[in-house]
Amino acid sequence: MDASDDSVPFDQQGLVELVAVVTTDPKEQEPVERVGSDNHKSRSGCEPSILLTSSDLEEEGVPLVMLEGGETLNEKSRLKPSSKSTWHGTLKNVCLFSCGLALVSSVVILFLLLSDTNFFQDLGFGLRNSENHVERPILAFRKKQSTGGRRKEFKILQITDIHLGEAEDLDWGPRQDRNTWHALDSILKVEAPVDLLILGGDQLTGNNCEKNGTAYYEELGHFLSSYGKPWATIFGNHDDTEYEAANGERRPALYSRKDLVIADQKSPLSLTQMGPDTIDGTSNYMLDVHDSSGTDVIAQVLLLDSGGGAIPKKISDSQIAWVREQISTSDVPAVAFQHIPTQAHKFFDDSRCQGLHDDGVEVVGYDGGIMQALSATNRFFFLGVGHMHGMGYCCPYESSDLPDPSTVNQNQMHVCFGRHSGYGGYGRWERGCRVYELYYDDDETEARTTPSSETSSKAATRPIMQWSSWVRLESGEIVDKMKL
Ligand SMILES: [Zn+2]
Repeated sequence: MDASDDSVPFDQQGLVELVAVVTTDPKEQEPVERVGSDNHKSRSGCEPSILLTSSDLEEEGVPLVMLEGGETLNEKSRLKPSSKSTWHGTLKNVCLFSCGLALVSSVVILFLLLSDTNFFQDLGFGLRNSENHVERPILAFRKKQSTGGRRKEFKILQITDIHLGEAEDLDWGPRQDRNTWHALDSILKVEAPVDLLILGGDQLTGNNCEKNGTAYYEELGHFLSSYGKPWATIFGNHDDTEYEAANGERRPALYSRKDLVIADQKSPLSLTQMGPDTIDGTSNYMLDVHDSSGTDVIAQVLLLDSGGGAIPKKISDSQIAWVREQISTSDVPAVAFQHIPTQAHKFFDDSRCQGLHDDGVEVVGYDGGIMQALSATNRFFFLGVGHMHGMGYCCPYESSDLPDPSTVNQNQMHVCFGRHSGYGGYGRWERGCRVYELYYDDDETEARTTPSSETSSKAATRPIMQWSSWVRLESGEIVDKMKL
């Protein structure tokens, strides 16, 4: 190799040298040691070079050339046959090759890291916490096997007010949580198949969670994950409420609603979303439900944060404006959930409502006209709430806005209460979960009612979707079944 090789990058030079060793006659081109070159300086971690001093060269009768600064160099000295055995040179070249390979590999890995983080996600060590990089399930209707697939179903199970973490520092608190796991296990097993779980608020009694509110959400995520079904969470008035110490002192929760969303989203089965920052509350979002082939969106689920805890109990004007915007973009059937009832949920008439009615009704301080906004679209089947542990009924929505409020029909929106599902929180009514089943038959279709520029490319008809609802108790019994 001549002096021009010094301009070749170090790693390439190592490769060139190795190739030279392999492809040339070893007698003609024995491994050499360099003198007067800078190469030896940057080989940290490799076999050190053997440097020949000028006295070595003089001993061998090699004439020296004086350079600027008094240094000596002889052309012959640049290629001096090694007096050592050839294994030494080979070892050096292998070492150079390894260093070069390591450097190239590092550059490739760095490039992949910067250009495509999904590569690492695929390998299983991506940032699972990041909503953008977790593969989450798509919601879709399911073919009902007993009808040969002619009927399609989508079953929602509302788990509400389980109040984990209550009295976490006393014996009965954790025991109560174990009873909750047992109740949910019984209900989930007997009610299968379920397509979506709604965690309807008050998953925690934050008043007693001194510091680990997020840990309870992670525990809940692990528990639900074992059933293999996706869930969507909304917050209640106890999830991030202030902590109440045994001595009566109070202080704000050490975690926020957003912290709970992050903990919830750690499971790939969580469909919970952090709502827009520009509106009040956190758990404000909409989920699409597809047909059984997973292509077209044929229903939607609206989730709202009715406040409480660290924020006021209300549906604010900013939320209503956001809801109006969301629901105007589609004409498919929809359902909605929030934790605290609206004024409309106070209505109860024995002849027109079905279900448990054994409690008072506390409503949000202000609801912005949410029921009017939803019912005016003719898309919503119901708004389901929790909060009142002794209420479990569904009623047709009564409003003076309706032309004839006494007329109840299939399309009339309903107000529904879930069923107290856990052992935390007040009351001893038998635990259960309200189930909402959306369904349609392939051969029953109707014309689309809300044509718009956006729907012009869609089919002119769609399936006639219906719904029914019941409560599944921990004992396995079905009660409070809706008769629509
Ligand atoms: Zn509650």
